[in-house]
Amino acid sequence: MFAPTSELSRQVKEAAAEAGFELAGIAGVGEFPELDYFPTWIAEGRGGEMAYLQARDEQGRLKRASPGAVAPWARSVVVCALNYNSDEPYSTQLQQPERGWISRYAWSRRDYHNVVMKKLKQVEAKISGQWAVGSGQQTQRPEIRTRLYVDTGPLVERVYAKYAGVGWMGKNTCIINQRLGSWLFLGVILTSLELAPDLPAPDRCGSCTRCIEACPTQALTAPYQLDSNRCISYLTIEKRGGIPEEMRAGMGRHVFGCDICQDVCPWNRKAPAGAEPELQPRPELVNPALEWLAEMNASHFAETFRGSPVRRAKLSGLRRNAVIAMGNSRHPKFAATLQRLSSDPDAVVAEQARWALRNIKR
Ligand code: SF4
Ligand code: SF4
Repeated sequence: MFAPTSELSRQVKEAAAEAGFELAGIAGVGEFPELDYFPTWIAEGRGGEMAYLQARDEQGRLKRASPGAVAPWARSVVVCALNYNSDEPYSTQLQQPERGWISRYAWSRRDYHNVVMKKLKQVEAKISGQWAVGSGQQTQRPEIRTRLYVDTGPLVERVYAKYAGVGWMGKNTCIINQRLGSWLFLGVILTSLELAPDLPAPDRCGSCTRCIEACPTQALTAPYQLDSNRCISYLTIEKRGGIPEEMRAGMGRHVFGCDICQDVCPWNRKAPAGAEPELQPRPELVNPALEWLAEMNASHFAETFRGSPVRRAKLSGLRRNAVIAMGNSRHPKFAATLQRLSSDPDAVVAEQARWALRNIKR
């Protein structure tokens, strides 16, 4: 005999806490209204060039909008969250013009995908293994299916995080928890177990619009709506080739990701620092030196960012971003370096270096 779904849910959350997740909640595999908007968002091209968002099943349905299509056996979604905040200052406090900004989620040596996945596997082991039920005896639970995802699965994690009560979806499109703020990595477990769902987290943005006003590229086109093509995170990490000229100034000195719409969020003002040892920041990645990044070679890049999410931008993208940041700094000390990079073998870096040089001399 199985334990009641609410007891199972409690046990799953207990397993998540034991694995080191600060938050965990359960959502059903429902037709949530937020998922209806996703195909429109993709059709409007707001997902940019991110092909993994656009994957479709045999019927042509977007996998991310209909996880039931790729995992018809799934009955519940367990959403776990790990706090990655640190005591380091926010991007809005970046004073030194010769320094750049890497998003705080990428400051650690380990890639968060691996850290979160390792913890999810611990929870999965409990779900798939033996649970104390009924009289306290252990019973082997047959055919419990699970599938784990960190970021790239066939579902919009944030929607399930909301319905699992982990946090509400803020106007900046991030999940915000009332106690922990929004510096959260999400991991999900699709499972065939019928678990008692949590209540969705209520929206606590109220009349605040700070994130929309602070976004330097107007990527938040309306509350809760993000145009990735305008977002610095997308431009610096996912976009290949040159950055459209009209977007370069707005990128400021961001070389990998952007934290502004979270930095200004009042719910992050008192957000506690995370305790996960594998996610502690590396000092050289907090406000990195721009010349250091712009002049990296392949072996230096590989060695510096081994196991780091920064690899996703690739060497060419990171150097391109650093060159644009140098141009936006308008700091004359970069002129000689930019002059040299204007004839770099990487045509994208060379073109942006010529633009940056013109910017400095203006
Ligand atoms: Fe705007 Fe930066 Fe937030 Fe993207 S991450 S929406 S660019 S503030
Ligand atoms: Fe919501 Fe304000 Fe935070 Fe934006 S800055 S997510 S509107 S609370």
